[in-house]
Amino acid sequence: MNPVSDQLGRSLTDLRVSVTDRCNFRCRYCMPREHFDQEHRYLKRSDILSFEEIARVVAQLAPLGLRKVRLTGGEPLLRSELHKLVALLRRDSELDIALTTNGSLLAKQARALRDAGLNRLTVSLDSLSPEVFTRMTDSGLSPSDVLAGIEAAHAVGFGPIKINAVVRRGVNDHTIVELARHFKGSGDIVRFIEYMDVGLTNGWRMDHVLSGREIVARIGAELPLEASDPNYAGEVAKRYRYLDGSGEIGVITSVTQPFCGDCGRLRLSADGQIFGCLFARVGTDLRTLLRGCADDAELAEKLSSFWRARGDRYSELRSLGTRGLPRLEMSYLGG
Ligand code: SAM
Repeated sequence: MNPVSDQLGRSLTDLRVSVTDRCNFRCRYCMPREHFDQEHRYLKRSDILSFEEIARVVAQLAPLGLRKVRLTGGEPLLRSELHKLVALLRRDSELDIALTTNGSLLAKQARALRDAGLNRLTVSLDSLSPEVFTRMTDSGLSPSDVLAGIEAAHAVGFGPIKINAVVRRGVNDHTIVELARHFKGSGDIVRFIEYMDVGLTNGWRMDHVLSGREIVARIGAELPLEASDPNYAGEVAKRYRYLDGSGEIGVITSVTQPFCGDCGRLRLSADGQIFGCLFARVGTDLRTLLRGCADDAELAEKLSSFWRARGDRYSELRSLGTRGLPRLEMSYLGG
């Protein structure tokens, strides 16, 4: 093991891999339909990394300190036979392998993913109200479809499952207590996410954000909570446990209380660009190396020199006049 540190002394611990830039949802805050329509140019199949290419990148990162890989997108379960990628990553590795999904295709794939060695699941579910869910996801599906995916995942042995809910003031904030109540006592952990200024298509405004503080206050007023210690340094969500011992929630405050200081995440886009931050403007191309005649040592050197040069801390700089600069979409970078 030869761990690397970046310019701010942060170790490389996590990799998020976007396996596709396509999604079957059109969440207003992520892939609004008017921008992601027939005219939108998705990545070409030939530009997207194969499972073998992804596994090769992961194999070079393991000696640099990588502990966890999260598969995401777009909607990762749209990528055909995703369980085969999980099996490839699992072969010869002790890595923690996680998946973030909208849950709509989970019921069909949960068993194969579990058998392939997927460790953990995060399922996005913004509201249990069918009207609010439809308004946010613009998907034609309902919360019960996602709940069925969660149930199927439990049935094959996944759990606790993390439930991600993006909170938008005036859109779903009146349903957060109901969501917390539904999962309270189930073992699953709802993580409320402050609506972030990712990309340029969602028309983000600060007054659309409900702060983590307000989220905790509103839920805590009905279901009493107390702050709890992080499970490990660099944990993204702040934890709050129910006073009656029936579980916990998480709050991800990347807007009001940014946490770049511990960030050990590298991102790999579906077309083989690496990024040091969700808010990075340009990536570094790995695909040319992967498809050229570079050997593993060259690839490893590219990855470690990228990490050593990394100085990203966008969330902490957000207020310092970075608004208006170009930004990449989360569906491309991988959320
Ligand atoms: N399709 C998968 C899903 O829905 O979970 C994976 C990709 S999605 C981009 C990953 C996560 O990012 C989801 O939980 C989604 O709600 C969240 N997300 C997308 N845009 C966001 C934004 N502007 N602010 C906060 N979270 C966002």
